Amino acid sequence: MPRVRRVPQRQCVACGQVRGKRDLVRVVRTAQGDVRIDPTGKLSGRGAYVCPEAACVDRALGEGRLARMLEREIPDDIARGLRGVTARAAPQRPPMVHRITLAQAAGRHGGSSGKQGTP
Ligand SMILES: [Zn+2]
Repeated sequence: MPRVRRVPQRQCVACGQVRGKRDLVRVVRTAQGDVRIDPTGKLSGRGAYVCPEAACVDRALGEGRLARMLEREIPDDIARGLRGVTARAAPQRPPMVHRITLAQAAGRHGGSSGKQGTP
């Protein structure tokens, strides 16, 4: 019998997408009124979630959605921290070696057959 594990689902404050809690970044307003990024998901307080993607973080911060959710202004260092999270999560682009090789090959080929029509 397979064991079904329920993953807690949360909604991104920017795009509204519902994702697993672990796929989102949690921002918490603690009982003391501090706004914190909560990588462990264990801080108690009022939480808001955002995708670890630049577009969502920009929207959450830029349109004041996060501030509204937490009923607190987002301090600059937290905003910077959130942007840092997205920078780290960004996928690495593969090197473009293949494209350069193909372009060189195409250029050489085109050069030899381009003289047709010239008097
Ligand atoms: Zn999102």
